[in-house]
Amino acid sequence: MTVTRFAPSPTGRLHVGNLRPALLNWLYARKQGGAFILRIDDTDAERSREEYVEAIKRDLDWLGLGWDRFERQSERMDRYNAAADALRADGRLYPAYETATELDLRRKYQRQAGRPPVYDRAALKLTDADRAELEAQGRRPHWRFKLDQQRVTWVDGIRGETTVDCASVSDPVLIREDGGYLYTLCSVCDDIDFNVTDVIRGEDHVTNTATQIQIFDAMSGAPTGFAHHSLLVDADGAGLSKRLGSLTLESIREAGVEPLALLSYMARLGSSDPIEPRTTHAELIEGFDLSRFGRAPARFSDDELTLLNTKALHVKPYGDVADRLRVAGVPDEDAEAFWLVIRENITALDEIAVWATILNGGIDPVIDAEDADYVERAMAALEAAKPWTGETWKAVTGALKAETGRKGKGLFMPLRKALTGRSNGPDMATLLPLLRR
Ligand code: GLU
Repeated sequence: MTVTRFAPSPTGRLHVGNLRPALLNWLYARKQGGAFILRIDDTDAERSREEYVEAIKRDLDWLGLGWDRFERQSERMDRYNAAADALRADGRLYPAYETATELDLRRKYQRQAGRPPVYDRAALKLTDADRAELEAQGRRPHWRFKLDQQRVTWVDGIRGETTVDCASVSDPVLIREDGGYLYTLCSVCDDIDFNVTDVIRGEDHVTNTATQIQIFDAMSGAPTGFAHHSLLVDADGAGLSKRLGSLTLESIREAGVEPLALLSYMARLGSSDPIEPRTTHAELIEGFDLSRFGRAPARFSDDELTLLNTKALHVKPYGDVADRLRVAGVPDEDAEAFWLVIRENITALDEIAVWATILNGGIDPVIDAEDADYVERAMAALEAAKPWTGETWKAVTGALKAETGRKGKGLFMPLRKALTGRSNGPDMATLLPLLRR
């Protein structure tokens, strides 16, 4: 059975960059009828926060990306201890004592000498006596995985055949000086134990994958399949990293974006399939094909998301927004009619508040000086025509046309601006009966 996982570190809010692996793994599992695991990579106790774990769940819930299993690395320390002991016993995990400053300096020399800044394995040459002396000085080791210095090749689900020469990769640190585990080892243990079959993640993990394939081998586990998606860039092709803080799922939600609009966008962005508004998760799953994704960076455009969101709102049923309308102060008896009138004219749900204010007469009318007399006359006519129905607008403006000779925009626009404070919006004939004052 296909098993995938989304493995965020709870050190911040999820943003559109994280949504990519979350969604692709979810879609892949659902398409294959498999299972999707939410795994919290919280071995970094200092930076991990419980509030972010909760926020991750909330964001995925909002998007309707349910998980079949929940795991957290901080609860699996015994397993990682055992794995580390086994690797030590096999001579694949060795202690190294360099400080970060020493390593920096060494890399600098290597670069100056025109050599790649790869760890020189000096720690492998230490004798027992050397180590004892370093420990006596109060140094504590970190632990590195001894790579086989050879090429590692896999058939990537997106990139095709991919090769990394591990001779030019530093032996990865698996255990920090303070005894804390790095994700590199934990992830392999978890993927083996949870029978993960496919890992889909960003291309920034390609080198990691080569080293992790060696760790799988060292632990006699069969490596999972791997697929590395490209990273997001903005519409101009620049990296999105600087903007990601403002592109959190929370801020996108608060801006009133529909979950399915965001999913419709992100589920096809970077693939050769067209991006179209979908109204159900099932449609997203059905048309999903990982092999259609390419290596080119995926351009994230706010405008395109807004457009999809607008389309999604136009067909959104009343039941989905009833609570929101109530909160915005729309009287229950008008709420459904109100929603059906405004949904075609908004680009985000937070605009409900604007129209609720208009509905309740809380806006400042906009009346141009040259229209003042006309507007006054029209308002008197409208007042006299109460109670307003679906026919009122047509009848009253028809009479005004005959009386004043105004027509078209000159006839309608001053009234729209006076009644709503805006020069655009829903059909006035349908809106008018809903305006309370
Ligand atoms: N916690 C890792 C990250 O967020 C997971 C990467 C992976 O999917 O293996 O980068």
